[in-house]
Amino acid sequence: MTFDYDLFVIGGGSGGVRAGRIAASEYGAKVGLAEESRMGGTCVIRGCVPKKLMIFAASAPDAAAEAQGYGWTGADAGRFDWDVFRARLDAELTRLEGAYTRGLESAGGTIYKQRAHLIDPHTVGLADGQRITAKHILIAVGGRPHLPGIEGQELGMISDDLFTMDRVPGRVLVVGGGFIACEFATILNGLGAETVLAYRGDKVLRGFDRDGRDLVTAQLDEIGVDVRLGLSPLRLGKDGAGVRAHFNDGSAESFDAVMFATGRAPYIKGLGLAELGVHCGPKGEILVDKYSQTNIPSIFAVGDVTDRVNLTPVAIREGHSFADTVFGGQPRFVDHDLVASAVYTRPHELASIGMTEDEAEARGGVEIYDARFRPMRSLFAGSDARVMMKLVVDAETCRVLGCHIFGPEAGEMIQLVAIAIGMGATKADLDRTIAVHPTLAEELVTMRQPTRRHDVPEPPEHDAPERDMAAPQL
Ligand code: NDP
Repeated sequence: MTFDYDLFVIGGGSGGVRAGRIAASEYGAKVGLAEESRMGGTCVIRGCVPKKLMIFAASAPDAAAEAQGYGWTGADAGRFDWDVFRARLDAELTRLEGAYTRGLESAGGTIYKQRAHLIDPHTVGLADGQRITAKHILIAVGGRPHLPGIEGQELGMISDDLFTMDRVPGRVLVVGGGFIACEFATILNGLGAETVLAYRGDKVLRGFDRDGRDLVTAQLDEIGVDVRLGLSPLRLGKDGAGVRAHFNDGSAESFDAVMFATGRAPYIKGLGLAELGVHCGPKGEILVDKYSQTNIPSIFAVGDVTDRVNLTPVAIREGHSFADTVFGGQPRFVDHDLVASAVYTRPHELASIGMTEDEAEARGGVEIYDARFRPMRSLFAGSDARVMMKLVVDAETCRVLGCHIFGPEAGEMIQLVAIAIGMGATKADLDRTIAVHPTLAEELVTMRQPTRRHDVPEPPEHDAPERDMAAPQL
């Protein structure tokens, strides 16, 4: 049987484009791809990239304040002009969209700028009525914001809307306590919005290390976000040009805008999965084996639509492994253990890899090395901000099982620690590494005594050292 394509990809985001590009450029596959929106997907168009640029924008007042601490009198970030920033952001996203388009097309792939759905195991239907056949079909459609299902929720924004707002709202409510809620509350606050964050739990970032969660919760408060814990809106109503939120504690408040950051769900609506009998899990996630193959052998899925680890670099790796396996004859799969991630709050980020202290406590046989200090840079400028670095170490093998960093550029640091941890580094390996002084990261190789032990006999526990990082440890 002959097909129009060797591979047809539904979704032009990070995972789909990588899979299509590698299949075409490295293995000579004939590739088609359908994208209903802009090439680049969530990460490039309405996620990681514009979000991080907005974090940079929101950090300018901190930089100006720090400059004053270093003797720059009159240092002031000035007035933030959303229109100027947004025009520059749009231009940058258009540039990246072009790069994604060219990346696939220059590899020989064909892009269909329209919606696609499955018709049979080898056929895809396009919005304009075309039918396209392919030996293999890859679903890489990602996820979409999940709303809590409350009355009036259509009056709220989702994270996508942040990048296309007409203006920065004067007073905004962010609902949720995950990655997006923490990052977007940080951005909105930094851009001058009076920001309230309502989270139903007792500290943000469930699933992260407990001390990191405490520190992010406290930092949000310190930068001026009004963090309301144990609070959720039950209903939204119109209030002039704004929105009135009615909360679970009986209170009600008005905002210029409400943003839901209450999770994301696989974007499977209208794909035709059920009609074809593709197995999905309870959240709608497409169920795949370790090679990203569904129960229908010609259909594969990668990225957020499979709800494994919902991060761009994971989707890219899954897409690449799929291409290597199916078109390169080199069976490869992604190890979803030990994936590092960072939450880009400001001024300190929270970055993590591996076992948290809660998990360590449940497992036992673990030592915790925990350092707290005030970094010399911000301390000199008059800030009291503290960094935390924590290592979770197996008491018997000395292997480092987890690392959690709360500090400036923590995402950059965890990336490098992840290499060592992925290679099976022990605490002795870190101890043997000579510090680069003066840096923040040197603390990772200079922690001497465990501060806590979980289910390990002896010796007594030490308090986490609290100090200023102005001089090397003696
Ligand atoms: P998360 O799953 O991280 O957080 C969802 C939040 O919404 C949680 O605090 C959750 O509370 C809360 N929530 C869920 N349902 C309700 C409800 N009905 N009412 C009130 N609160 C609710 O999702 P995000 O949307 O923040 O992010 C989605 C994913 O995108 C992340 O998991 C991550 O994989 C990815 N991402 C990664 C980033 C990065 O790498 N820096 C940045 C942004 C996103 P509870 O904890 O109590 O369940």
